[in-house]
Amino acid sequence: MINTEFYSHLQKEIPSTVDIVAVSKMQPDPKLLELYNLGQRQFGENKVQELVRKAQLFPDDIKWHILGHLQTNKVKQVLPFVYLIQSVDSIKLLKEIQKEAIKLDKIINVLLQIKIAKEEQKFGCSVKELDEIKLLANQNTFPNIHFKGYMGIATFTDNNNLIGSEFSLLKSIADENVDWIPDPIISMGMSDDYAIAIAAGSNMLRIGSAIFGARNYNTDSKE
Ligand SMILES: *Cc1c(COP(=O)(O)O)cnc(C)c1O
Repeated sequence: MINTEFYSHLQKEIPSTVDIVAVSKMQPDPKLLELYNLGQRQFGENKVQELVRKAQLFPDDIKWHILGHLQTNKVKQVLPFVYLIQSVDSIKLLKEIQKEAIKLDKIINVLLQIKIAKEEQKFGCSVKELDEIKLLANQNTFPNIHFKGYMGIATFTDNNNLIGSEFSLLKSIADENVDWIPDPIISMGMSDDYAIAIAAGSNMLRIGSAIFGARNYNTDSKE
């Protein structure tokens, strides 16, 4: 059973301009269906294989988000099913998305994942890489890619001041680049830090365990 009490509380608590992406990775199908029946239409996964399976199984009015690091060799597989790639973190990945999107005659929505955490984070662009991407985009290098905004993950800590300053950094990066991406999606905030994220200007939350409970599902995925 999902936590319907939390879900309805969350919907009431947050401004109507903030989207909720339900992070359904490693959650069993009946739980997704239960949330779908409550009206939720945006779901996030971190494995391509699991996203593709669920996208084919569930109603097609669901918008599927990929949140986890995306390998270039998985791009082709996910493009037909994905609504928003939140984890774009390199020029190499953008070039691959462009190459495959043009074959499908599709425009692909992406967020740039920015490294905002003080802790060592494996994935995400630096501000310098963001500037390089912006330059290439302005030269029309990625005609089949729609840059919609930014995604960030804060340090895993109970220091709320640190989390808040990291989220504020992402918000200021978004503000500094409105000449390029006006009205950006700012995807920040998970089960444990969503309130801090909203205070810092988030307009898209990615909530998993607080809605679905702990992840325990074995996906048989070898990714
Ligand atoms: C798993 C995950 C989430 C959801 O985390 P919870 O703590 O379960 O809410 C959000 N964002 C990303 C990128 C994730 O990988």
